Amino acid sequence: MRTAAKTLLVFTDLDGTLLDAVTYSFDEARPALRALEKRRIPLIICSSKTRAEIEPLRRSLRNRHPFISENGGAVYVPHGTFSFDIPHAVDREGYEVLELGVPYAALRAFLSEFQAERPDRVRGFGDMSDEEVARLCGFSVERARLARQREFDEPILADDDAALSLLKQKAEASGWRIVSGGRFHHLLGPHDKGLAVRRLKEMFVRDQGPVRVIGLGDGPNDFPLLRESDIPVLLPAPDGAFEPGIDLPGLILAPGPGPAGWREAVFHLIGPEASGRD
Ligand SMILES: [Mg+2]
Repeated sequence: MRTAAKTLLVFTDLDGTLLDAVTYSFDEARPALRALEKRRIPLIICSSKTRAEIEPLRRSLRNRHPFISENGGAVYVPHGTFSFDIPHAVDREGYEVLELGVPYAALRAFLSEFQAERPDRVRGFGDMSDEEVARLCGFSVERARLARQREFDEPILADDDAALSLLKQKAEASGWRIVSGGRFHHLLGPHDKGLAVRRLKEMFVRDQGPVRVIGLGDGPNDFPLLRESDIPVLLPAPDGAFEPGIDLPGLILAPGPGPAGWREAVFHLIGPEASGRD
């Protein structure tokens, strides 16, 4: 039996994957981005960043496809993307939004309650100014302003491990999670990137028939995205080391970190005929 050609979709993480880990540039990926565009393969951003951080980047990529924000907290689908109304989505500012995360106000209320018992031990972005977030993260104040526009995930700094493990216990009792990512810990609901990828994949299938997903990421928060991909691609850290802890059949290791590794991996996957490197 012959199978019909499947629609190819590319889901990508940003920092350390499509974007350079230090400069946040995607310049070296441009030839592969053009090849995807030429072949009309949708590029879907799937990031821990907020919608406010993703939107300017989407504009500079001239990307009009759906995207996933805050580690799968929400799927943003521009109006007109699909031929049907998305079940359970809310209409907001030109998008149909499928909210998978716990709303930020509820996360903040939970944190405030905890802080009333244990003052000053844990602080979130909501307790900080743009300037403080900029200083702590090495961001510009403008970038910190966008990063503070949280909808489904609160980054937290903890003074001591005891406070953090108590917070973790309480979060889990509510069915929520604390995910540690480098310096900040994140308070969030039960969603992850994988759930958001699955939902969006279902929409593409309903609209266009069978799909084949290429997924690219570099960190532990990308593992759920890679597990939902037909062709998972892991990128190394800038020092060349791959994040341990994922073992998937067919996992492809990119030949280098960031946008240059991304470009080579995409060219390898979409075929040599697309590799006109103008
Ligand atoms: Mg990353």
